[in-house]
Amino acid sequence: MTDRGRRHRRAIRENRLLPAREPRSLSADRPSTLRVTLLTNTPQDQVSSLGEALLIEKIRGWLGSASPRAPFGIGDDCAVVPSGRTAQLITVDPVIYGEHFDDSVPARGAGEKLFKRNLSDIAAMGGRPRAAVVALALEDRTRIAWLREFYRGLANMSRRYQVPLVGGDVARLKGGFVATLTLVGEAAAGGRIVTRRGARRGDVIYVTGSLGGSLASGHHYRFEPRLAEGAWLARRAEVRAMMDVSDGLAKDLRALEPGGAVAAIEPALLPRRRGCDVRSALCDGEDFELVFAAANGADLGLFERAFRRRFPRTRLTRIGRFASGQVYPAGAVDLRALKGFEHLTGSASRPRGR
Ligand SMILES: [Mg+2]
Repeated sequence: MTDRGRRHRRAIRENRLLPAREPRSLSADRPSTLRVTLLTNTPQDQVSSLGEALLIEKIRGWLGSASPRAPFGIGDDCAVVPSGRTAQLITVDPVIYGEHFDDSVPARGAGEKLFKRNLSDIAAMGGRPRAAVVALALEDRTRIAWLREFYRGLANMSRRYQVPLVGGDVARLKGGFVATLTLVGEAAAGGRIVTRRGARRGDVIYVTGSLGGSLASGHHYRFEPRLAEGAWLARRAEVRAMMDVSDGLAKDLRALEPGGAVAAIEPALLPRRRGCDVRSALCDGEDFELVFAAANGADLGLFERAFRRRFPRTRLTRIGRFASGQVYPAGAVDLRALKGFEHLTGSASRPRGR
């Protein structure tokens, strides 16, 4: 036996994995010779030159086979991980000081917002949240009393929605505050997981609640995630595809469009928050409402009555349908001409301080 053979047999005996040779597929793991700095002042080399959608496309490419397609990978409100007979949902979202909240928002509100914006993603798939972990990156100067209130906000939401906070991490950050919450969940009892795919041409588009003015009204941290509504909708055969509205309906709804169709929204039907115009309702973002496609041909009158009986205090509005073709029909809003919140450039229909 060769030396290598002996080493290998000993490794197996000692329960160590010792590949005789590095597999070809690992060659990409070798240290790169490319040395670049994290930050650059050259505009065309900056992530902001890509925009959010293109950056996510790039990330998909960089990950390659390491990242499966949605709903098992990037591209839906939660990732769906097969687990035994069921499937697990996983989602992660941060709150960043100066981006998602500032000193005008009470610390407790910031903590509640962090929990709820993740709950909204579980709701968007008709899921039930099970457990959360939270990672903080914070400055040395962070006020203890502020942090205590922030955690009280997290604890409030943990108790209200019966989702234990089971762990986390604290790290140091020079300048700023970032808290990132990861939430796991599963399909709600008797329901299924509803993804963004599944809408068909002719399907009717519904939205819960009211849209627009989230920042000015304080809705962006005071909202209630639509968990009960999402779980109910996931049990209804009429509902074919669903998501939550976080970046503005104009931007988000395009993810539900089936091939060969556009989301034809009638502006007069949009449920607008008081004082908001159509543009604000479509572009402001952080509404955390549910938007979904219901089967054309189903008895939608019956469906609407059943929803209203179950959720008498939740507004449900039929706002349009998925129309065949590549152009928006006359009278419908041209969603492509509008922009929702763009995370990397910070631009939207108006300046933001969130
Ligand atoms: Mg979402």
